[in-house]
Amino acid sequence: MGTIKNPVVHLRSMNIFQANKPFLIAGPCSAESESQMIEIAHVFREMPVNMIRAGIWKPRSRPGHFEGRGEMALPWLKQVKEISGKPICIEVASSEQAELALKFQIDAIWIGARTSVNPFMVQEIADALKGSEMAVLVKNPVNPDIELWSGAVERMLEAGMTNIAAIHRGFSAYDPTSVYRNKPMWALPIELHRRYPELPIFCDISHISGKRNLLAEIAQRAMDLDFDGLMIETHPDPDQALSDSAQQITPIQLGQLLDGLTLRRAGKFDSLEIEQIRQVIDTMDAEVVDIVGKRMELVRQLAHVKLKHNMPIFQKERWQEIIESRTHWGLKNQLKEKFMLRLFELIHDQSIQTQIDELQQLQHIENKD
Ligand code: PEP
Ligand code: MN
Repeated sequence: MGTIKNPVVHLRSMNIFQANKPFLIAGPCSAESESQMIEIAHVFREMPVNMIRAGIWKPRSRPGHFEGRGEMALPWLKQVKEISGKPICIEVASSEQAELALKFQIDAIWIGARTSVNPFMVQEIADALKGSEMAVLVKNPVNPDIELWSGAVERMLEAGMTNIAAIHRGFSAYDPTSVYRNKPMWALPIELHRRYPELPIFCDISHISGKRNLLAEIAQRAMDLDFDGLMIETHPDPDQALSDSAQQITPIQLGQLLDGLTLRRAGKFDSLEIEQIRQVIDTMDAEVVDIVGKRMELVRQLAHVKLKHNMPIFQKERWQEIIESRTHWGLKNQLKEKFMLRLFELIHDQSIQTQIDELQQLQHIENKD
């Protein structure tokens, strides 16, 4: 695997998305009517909401559903801003929509999951925004592809956007048994954070959950993982919502959800107790690396023996035996089967590769002789 190139992230020293932690973006899935938006504006004026969202053009999977009010809803949002005193954000999926967002002085746009998957569209939007002060939130693409997500962020950075953040909204898959609408894959936002430590990362708990009863649990997980903010779809009358009705909550329910959140202490924190535990963990990790190295050394020896006996590198029965015994040992140590499988698949893949490399080297030496 090659090393990952990290473009320098130049964000505003005061990125608007860092004005508060957790930064809260709330509002309906879609702007449905002027009265709905004005009601939201009045309620949010009094609530700790940092930015108000509303979809104007709705990407719907299937035709024949409500596709948003379009341009006619943009003047409503101007009123929402005046009444609430809060910045507004909408989704844009094309350069025309980006130009309209600029024309109507929208404060922020988000790139939806069906758009961040398409570099042509992302570039088109980035070009339309170039030179503007627009703040941009980049949702993860529908598929779990960290390069596409990073790439969309980079296109915005290269266009000079500095008020920028990413949103984890989960990933779609065909899985009728899943409790989620879009499965969260926490390793991806964590990797994005590793690549761009300055980039604020949000969690859109509504599109992950797809239903109200999971919202609080996902929001808490996001707080525990030190996300910078939340996006939560909120509607004055969710049951009557024209899109995403099952996942939207009322402003009162939003208040309850926020009250129930345990906020974790941000940033570095010195504690002797943590330090002591970490020292033991560091020692153990060093032992793990040492032992994996020794295991690989034995695997190299094995390659020679297999060659001597003209045996194939991959031995099906042995692999089966490894999986069974290791998952069993894992269970005895409270380690889940799925984790043990992933761990040993990784180790076994590397063992196979090590043996291939070893054989290639041997053949190279033989050919020379
Ligand atoms: C939305 O936020 O309303 C939306 C359509 O989101 P996503 O792109 O995450 O599906
Ligand atoms: Mn929605």
